[in-house]
Amino acid sequence: MINLKNLNFKELENFVVENGWPKFRAKQIAKWLYNKKVESFDQMTDLSKEIRQTLKEKCEINSLKLLTYQQSKIDGSIKFLWQLKDGNTIETVLINEKNHKTLCVSTQVGCAVGCKFCYTTKDGLIRNLETAEIVDQYINVQRFLGDEEENRISNIVYMGMGEPLANYDNVKKSVQIFTHPDMCKLSHRKITISSSGILHQIKRMFEDKDFPQVKLAVSLNASHQSQRSYLMPISQTNTLEDLMDLLRKLPLKPGWRITLEYVLIKNVNDTVEDAKRLVNLIKKDKHRFKVNLIPFNPYPGSDFERPEESRVLAFEKVLWDNNIATFIRWSKGRDIDAACGQLRKKEMLFLNA
Ligand code: SF4
Repeated sequence: MINLKNLNFKELENFVVENGWPKFRAKQIAKWLYNKKVESFDQMTDLSKEIRQTLKEKCEINSLKLLTYQQSKIDGSIKFLWQLKDGNTIETVLINEKNHKTLCVSTQVGCAVGCKFCYTTKDGLIRNLETAEIVDQYINVQRFLGDEEENRISNIVYMGMGEPLANYDNVKKSVQIFTHPDMCKLSHRKITISSSGILHQIKRMFEDKDFPQVKLAVSLNASHQSQRSYLMPISQTNTLEDLMDLLRKLPLKPGWRITLEYVLIKNVNDTVEDAKRLVNLIKKDKHRFKVNLIPFNPYPGSDFERPEESRVLAFEKVLWDNNIATFIRWSKGRDIDAACGQLRKKEMLFLNA
């Protein structure tokens, strides 16, 4: 069975032609999948019965089943838990920003990167998500919310479970589908890929002509090398110095900046000295970066604590005093589970009980 959402537009056209249908059928099918967001071939009413029958025999559309969701009473964020065809589960988070909605999608079941502060990585990597499983997180949540203008998801961040650039091909194809004018039609500038800093994959993404240009965020989380390799083992080979060298050279569209994410952990990387070191890392090229400070959200069994607000503000002040654009991201939906991956873990315990 071919899941049609595993095909980018070119592949969908090839599939249509291989079946002896005119090319324009690809546009029609894409409209039903990504604009109307249908769940069955019978809903594709402008296709002939024969075409629908062939599609039913050869293809499938759905890859996710909603197991449960939780909505935050604080800010309305919603965390969705999906079951995949093989029984694995993943999470997606809908974030209600002031003027828009952002969807945080997962790209892997688990993660191999092993960041010390991260809940998702506790069980290691189970598998990469298929393109359809990434795209369906958006399709299913948008269907759940309804089509009204105020419910439209405009932004996608690849910041859920997994390291997106370790699932390069499927992530690339999902971005092609999200941005294609005959598919999801989302704006390139409203999609952000967040990486832990795999240097060769970041380079590859920027050199790849078929990878639609979208924004890049990198998890920095440290102000010097030994701190970073302690928190993020990936930094033992992808060093902070090499990472910053690469980020300083990447070609950026006018007005675009790279986001540096910095999870603030009490007494680990949250001192004023850390902030000053961070300034030194950025200051020569401060116009190409902005910094997101994310106070750590403790989860049961985590080794780390969240810094007091005064420490977070003092850290931020050092950066602003040096004219570095800095924003504090107080985590959304703190009441619906602190860390990404926790809802999944809870449900697994429940299912296996
Ligand atoms: S923070 Fe991201 S890259 Fe690091 S272990 Fe967690 S999911 Fe993987």
